[in-house]
Amino acid sequence: MSDRRSFLKKSGLFGLTALASNLLSEEKINALQTLGKEAGDKTPFALPALPYAYDALEPFIDKQTMEIHHTKHHQAYVNKLNETPSTNLDYSSNDAVKCSRVDKSTSAVIRNNLGGHYNHSLFWTLLKPNPESKANLPAGKLNEAITKNFKTFEDFKKEFSEKATKHFGSGWCWLIEQNGKLKITTTPNQDNPLMKLEGIEKGKIIVALDVWEHAYYLKYQNKRADYISNWWNVVNWEKAEELFTK
Ligand code: MN
Repeated sequence: MSDRRSFLKKSGLFGLTALASNLLSEEKINALQTLGKEAGDKTPFALPALPYAYDALEPFIDKQTMEIHHTKHHQAYVNKLNETPSTNLDYSSNDAVKCSRVDKSTSAVIRNNLGGHYNHSLFWTLLKPNPESKANLPAGKLNEAITKNFKTFEDFKKEFSEKATKHFGSGWCWLIEQNGKLKITTTPNQDNPLMKLEGIEKGKIIVALDVWEHAYYLKYQNKRADYISNWWNVVNWEKAEELFTK
């Protein structure tokens, strides 16, 4: 009964309940309820808008790369997820929880496209314009934790850049918090540190860097290291601090 009531309420039909109960057969009410549940539980995935213009990260990340990355690559992950209804996905949970339930039994299509959607959604928010090329450094609690774990920010930057540069093939480089310690780790393809997969360091994500060629090839060609050294200028440390302290 409570299920039916919440469906009717959600559908704006609550006021008609009494009437409906009299006019509709139990069978029809059940059918309506099922329809409502399906619609409610399988909220389609959607491409989030960028919090800045495509050219806002110039000269460090170019407009064309940002536009193609967002409207073609990220959109493709979203489309694939919506085309592939999965009985194993809890559609009512948020995307971080969905990722945390990915394990070796998860199909490749869900693992890759859910990861692709989640990682990019996070990545966009971890970038911010820096048109005047100001020094871009973490502050507050995150800065304290970085210097505690890596000695200096420069040591941290060096280790992160090396790991991101040397990661073989497509993937991501992350700063995570694991059991109270900060760690730099990489994952292949669209896997991420929330997933329960062998060989993946699990932890809370604080910084994310996409090292797929599609993230830099138009401007930097094969020079991933140059892309990474420029990316430091547009890291959104305020967002990273928010992820770290939440
Ligand atoms: Mn990408």
